[in-house]
Amino acid sequence: MSLAGKTALVTGGTSGIGLAIARALAAEGADVVINGLGDPQENAQIADDIAQNCKVKSYTSPADMCDPDAIARMMAEAKERLGTIDILVNNAGIQHVSAVEEFPIEKWNQIIAINLSSAFHTIRLAVPGMKQKGWGRIINTASAHSLVASPYKAAYVAAKHGLAGLTKTVALETAQAGVTVNCISPGYVWTPLVENQIPDTMKARGLTKEQVIEDVLLKAQPTKQFVTVDQIGAMAVFLCSDAASQITGANLSVDGGWTAQ
Ligand code: NAD
Repeated sequence: MSLAGKTALVTGGTSGIGLAIARALAAEGADVVINGLGDPQENAQIADDIAQNCKVKSYTSPADMCDPDAIARMMAEAKERLGTIDILVNNAGIQHVSAVEEFPIEKWNQIIAINLSSAFHTIRLAVPGMKQKGWGRIINTASAHSLVASPYKAAYVAAKHGLAGLTKTVALETAQAGVTVNCISPGYVWTPLVENQIPDTMKARGLTKEQVIEDVLLKAQPTKQFVTVDQIGAMAVFLCSDAASQITGANLSVDGGWTAQ
């Protein structure tokens, strides 16, 4: 298949899963806007490498997914520079681990803003162009935590369940316009997000680092393996293919069997 001539925007695309999705879409020929935080020079290099290796157009946007105005500016710039967004990947996300009674209110607000509300803001701005073209793909990176809970992750679990609900609702609203809207729900993938939550998980559960990896992360997944970023990238490419044109409103688990239990 080819995504040549399509424009993709990936939020949280400067690291981990989002970067793998951006690379996978570009490898199929899509021009890619890569949103994310981090060092601007390193991010510019990421986009340059993708542009060169895949012979596509690519640039980075540092828009903060907590800020609806910044999101609107990012969407307008993308349209001006690369044309209507055909493939929207809502992937930006953060995590915080602590008992609910100690959960900082600002962390709750930040997680809901980045992991859930940002997708509402991008979707409402992208849908009109997709409807006009009669083709669009919206892919939301949810999580196994959109289907099941784990203790000490109140905001994350709530945001991911919300993202699954947003996905289904928008899928119904766009089903007759050639637009599909789906979640990919990874299990544990070894990225900075997972690595950075280990100290708080050790504290919340009274475990060593090795116990967190073996008895919390890998124990959740019957395969006893981490999912890889490239496996999520491949799923995103599949959802953009004609073979997936009747898949909409779905929540596709790539979680080593976690949520089958
Ligand atoms: P990561 O930390 O490697 O990447 C997160 C990305 O989000 C980075 O590009 C970062 O710059 C960006 N980001 C964070 N805050 C932002 C903000 N305010 N504005 C703009 N961008 C922001 O993490 P990851 O594991 O690749 O996570 C990507 C997505 O996958 C998240 O939505 C996460 O919830 C989801 N997910 C991850 C796992 C896992 O095990 N790693 C499992 C299930 C779901």
